[in-house]
Amino acid sequence: MTTAPARTPSAPTRTPPDPARLRAAVEEYALAFRATALAMDRPGADPRTLNPVVHDAYFPVLLGLPPAYNPDPLIVDGRPCHLHSCVERVVVYERLAWGDAALMVAAPGPSLSGVLTEELGDDDQKERYYTTLAARPTWTFFALTEPHAGSDATALTTALTPAGAGDPGSYRLSGVKKYIGNAVRADLGVVFARIKPGPVGVVAVLVEPDRPGFTATALPTTGMRAIGLSEVRLADVPVAASDILGMHLSATRRGIVGAMRTFNRARPVVAAMALGVAQAAWDYAATHRHALRAAESQVMEGLRRRLAGTRRLVLAAAGQADRDPGDGTVASAAKYRAAELALETSEYALRLFGPGARLEHPLLDKFHRDARAFEFMEGTGAVQRLNLALGHRKGRILDD
Ligand SMILES: Cc1cc2nc3c(=O)[nH]c(=O)nc-3n(C[C@H](O)[C@H](O)[C@H](O)COP(=O)(O)OP(=O)(O)OC[C@H]3O[C@@H](n4cnc5c(N)ncnc54)[C@H](O)[C@@H]3O)c2cc1C
Repeated sequence: MTTAPARTPSAPTRTPPDPARLRAAVEEYALAFRATALAMDRPGADPRTLNPVVHDAYFPVLLGLPPAYNPDPLIVDGRPCHLHSCVERVVVYERLAWGDAALMVAAPGPSLSGVLTEELGDDDQKERYYTTLAARPTWTFFALTEPHAGSDATALTTALTPAGAGDPGSYRLSGVKKYIGNAVRADLGVVFARIKPGPVGVVAVLVEPDRPGFTATALPTTGMRAIGLSEVRLADVPVAASDILGMHLSATRRGIVGAMRTFNRARPVVAAMALGVAQAAWDYAATHRHALRAAESQVMEGLRRRLAGTRRLVLAAAGQADRDPGDGTVASAAKYRAAELALETSEYALRLFGPGARLEHPLLDKFHRDARAFEFMEGTGAVQRLNLALGHRKGRILDD
């Protein structure tokens, strides 16, 4: 794709545009995503070569660079829209994930590492990060999970150690990270590592994968095949003090606390993508399965209502994340509900087509396989329910 939606340089806006109009503004991208969804689902498919949209230099800008690095934003209703707020992002990510959720995660752009850099980075680090991303389509990664430290991130063991007396201000990074999206194709990313014992002894560092000692290997997956889920091995990777995010902040703000605030802002977006898959499965069934029996119509109507309700919840979670990223209660509720709905809707849609549905309706088969990933991304269902219980006990519930 060589043409982008109409755009002109102008100042950022603070009021989010009407969701329906924002959705319409990215519709051509959603359709382009859908056009390659099955091709991208083949094992080994590479978004860098297969989908023309992600080659469009404009696309990463569409995914939300801060206004200072994006003089050419999307225009909706004659007003600039930088997709920098969570409320704007959930609308756009849902629609693009409707096209192909895996390609959405596999796309170039800031993604989670951008949210973290914005949360923790100093001015020079932000400049370095966003200048790289603004220059060309750039893939990024966010490496927190380890083979034995997933839900409990405080148990991570990847180590950041001083290089030695002869090399002050230099460090070495060693350990193993697992299930890291896009690491096999990334140009830049963040790695969480322990610099000292204890929960506040964790930091995040900016790393380019072309440094010596960095190896990323693709892991085979059943769903979300395009995302290049990887294992990352770090063997004495050189790190400079200027790579460590948040050194200008207190020890309690950087590291795991930074990761949690990042998750609170990212979970509504993951929820939106799950919702996109749920809507895609529902639309597929409604379009291709004619003459539903009364009981089937009833279930489809129930799912349609839950899609609408979950969309409201996701928007509310995004609004809360924009107001206070320290509170992830509603974000957890939205992510849990949307992940559940994606799985249920795609499962029911498959059932509507009877035996052989997976073979005869490969797109629906893909929606169902992709839907399973949302249970794990940005924390499992059990973790979301624990967050929700904690938030409830603290009185953090929606009042409208
Ligand atoms: C598609 C995909 C993309 C991903 N992308 C990334 C990425 O880019 N970067 C990254 O760092 N990670 C990524 N992950 C990893 C993801 O964050 C982890 O899978 C997730 O945090 C769970 O960790 P785990 O797999 O180690 O499971 P575990 O933490 O070992 O959990 C196993 C089971 O135990 C349950 N459980 C764990 N703790 C509790 C508890 N306290 N109470 C009750 N039940 C509990 C869980 O719900 C789960 O069912 C990705 C995963 C997937 C599937």
